Amino acid sequence: MRACVLHAAGDLRVEDVPEADLASDEVRLAFGHGGICGSDLHYLAHGRVGDSIVRDPMILGHEFTGTVLETGPAVTDLRPGDAVVVNPSRPCGDCAYCRAGRVNLCQAMRYMGSAAKRPHEQGGFVERPVVRRDNCVGLPHDTDTRLLALAEPYAIALHAASRAGDMSGRTVLVTGAGPIGALCAIAARRRGAAHVIATDVEDATLARVKALGVDRGINVATDTEAVAALIADQTVSVVLECAGAAKALELAVQAIRPAGRIIQVGFLPIDQGLSINALLTKELEIVGSYRFVDEFDTAVSDIVERRVDLSGVVTAVHGIDALGLAFAEAADRRRHLKVLIHF
Ligand SMILES: [Zn+2]
Ligand SMILES: [Zn+2]
Repeated sequence: MRACVLHAAGDLRVEDVPEADLASDEVRLAFGHGGICGSDLHYLAHGRVGDSIVRDPMILGHEFTGTVLETGPAVTDLRPGDAVVVNPSRPCGDCAYCRAGRVNLCQAMRYMGSAAKRPHEQGGFVERPVVRRDNCVGLPHDTDTRLLALAEPYAIALHAASRAGDMSGRTVLVTGAGPIGALCAIAARRRGAAHVIATDVEDATLARVKALGVDRGINVATDTEAVAALIADQTVSVVLECAGAAKALELAVQAIRPAGRIIQVGFLPIDQGLSINALLTKELEIVGSYRFVDEFDTAVSDIVERRVDLSGVVTAVHGIDALGLAFAEAADRRRHLKVLIHF
């Protein structure tokens, strides 16, 4: 069967891989739709994401849906034909963090399509992925599974919103309006934010998130007046920093009101100096947010029950034969938000 295998930076191939064996607690799926994530793009461009370095060939992908083809003997509650979305997260369940319910901090986490450990955890971009039943969330038969490919990044956004605490009636600033920024804006709105402002360096990207319900977009590269006003106003109580840029974090620290809360959602580059001393003088809380805890199920039900409309987040869908184009478009943040693939 075909799979999207990354061999090294710049070397992504659609190649034939053997059909995986099926363990008793696993299901075999027909791949539905998969979302290309920022981390997939990083792996392709640089061969690494932070400290996770691709050393052996690795199948990419951790945002995907499927239809059950076959179930292991211990699986009694899914049947061939059932639609599922895969939760790519497999915490150990046994470490202190898992036992405290903070499974996203698990020290022995296995996350699909991740080179954090060796052997790498293979991803889901294969024609017929085999996954544990416990990693599947069953879907009603009339679901538009295309949108469920967004469950994982939307879960990340919901978790970031949880880390922010109460947002009702607040002004929330989202820095960086790519896919995670856009979903964070939607999650902030869903959690009751009164006013959502987004910043980015591209007008096209800002126009897109405005269509998704962001009240105001500020181009920090060109609109210096609006940036100065945002800082002077001190109306922002929560910042979801999704750009992962020193400049964005600096703006967050400057624009937020005292006792505000900054959630760092995007990975920061390690080669840029940071001047964030207002962290002390405003007694800010900068709170990390990593993956998700039980928000995956909320993400699925929000999408299934149409409490959120994520259709505008998907900007292209490609078959596997156009994998190169799909990745190129996913990396083109001026024109695209989330790009999906299918086999
Ligand atoms: Zn992702
Ligand atoms: Zn654990």
